[in-house]
Amino acid sequence: MTLRSIEDLAAAGLTERDPALEQVAERYAVAVSPALVELIDRGDPDDPIARQFVPSVEELVTQPQERADPIGDLAHSPVEGIVHRYPDRVLLKAVHVCPVYCRFCFRREMVGPAGLGTLTSAELDAAIGYIAAHPEVWEVILTGGDPLVLSPRRLEAIMRRLAEIEHVRVVRFHTRVPVVEPERVDAAMVAALKASGKATYLAVHANHKREFSPAAREAVARLADAGVVLVSQSVLLRGVNDDVETLAALMKTFVENRIKPYYLHHPDLAPGTSHFRLGIEEGQKLVAALRGRISGLAQPTYVLDIPGGHGKSVLGESAVTRGDGCFTIRDWQGQEHRYTGE
Ligand code: SF4
Repeated sequence: MTLRSIEDLAAAGLTERDPALEQVAERYAVAVSPALVELIDRGDPDDPIARQFVPSVEELVTQPQERADPIGDLAHSPVEGIVHRYPDRVLLKAVHVCPVYCRFCFRREMVGPAGLGTLTSAELDAAIGYIAAHPEVWEVILTGGDPLVLSPRRLEAIMRRLAEIEHVRVVRFHTRVPVVEPERVDAAMVAALKASGKATYLAVHANHKREFSPAAREAVARLADAGVVLVSQSVLLRGVNDDVETLAALMKTFVENRIKPYYLHHPDLAPGTSHFRLGIEEGQKLVAALRGRISGLAQPTYVLDIPGGHGKSVLGESAVTRGDGCFTIRDWQGQEHRYTGE
């Protein structure tokens, strides 16, 4: 059973009963799935799984630069459930519920039982109508919340409607379900994710190698075997994956499970999450260190969603500087070389 309160977590030996934690749970949703409970090492006070999902009193500290809508979804929402930030793609947020609630969530003011809920059928009609009326929309990204909390029947109905829109060529899901509730990814769910004539991509959110339990690996394999193209997304988090060995192990685990590393997000300015954030320069150094350590296939793109809704920007340090009539290029060991070509 999913643990949804401080009382539940304390009874499972995952935290203490503490009125301050009750305050955290009143403000931000709590859910830790059975698959994750299994993975938590209760003997380790710094367990990277517990840190991501078990509430902490540090969440009561809100910094002045933190904001309820850190990536500016609302500024780009023409109709309920749609975010249209870039010309060729939209987010379709059909549901604002997740199987687990990450303590660093960038949409923590929108998701959860007290969040924005699920689109009504009239709102879903309007959202799909918006996509149909905008021929520039080439890709639809189902996110939320976690779209895979919807039943296969409801997902299949959404995919059938998207399949009818000629200009939509790609549908992408952003989800944590294969890792945190792998049993949901059964044959019916896998079938529901495909739309006739469209390419289905699925971004698996995971932040530590240990999230890949045997059941999670099997769920991911069911998706890959069915022809769903898998990419990763992770958040760079203090105390979870902010060292080169942990990041390298995570990226290699993605690749071994047929998931192409895609985004490594700099943590957003969500309220009560400063204990997870590290500096951009620190992040750049970590990502640069990955270059020499792991295969090109395993390299993620380090990105920041610019606060205010200005979209993503790549944060990696450039290996190229211009000067003296040529370029200077830094190699994976930090040595610099003159490049006199064009
Ligand atoms: S799964 Fe995504 S949307 Fe849900 S709580 Fe975690 S980060 Fe937020």
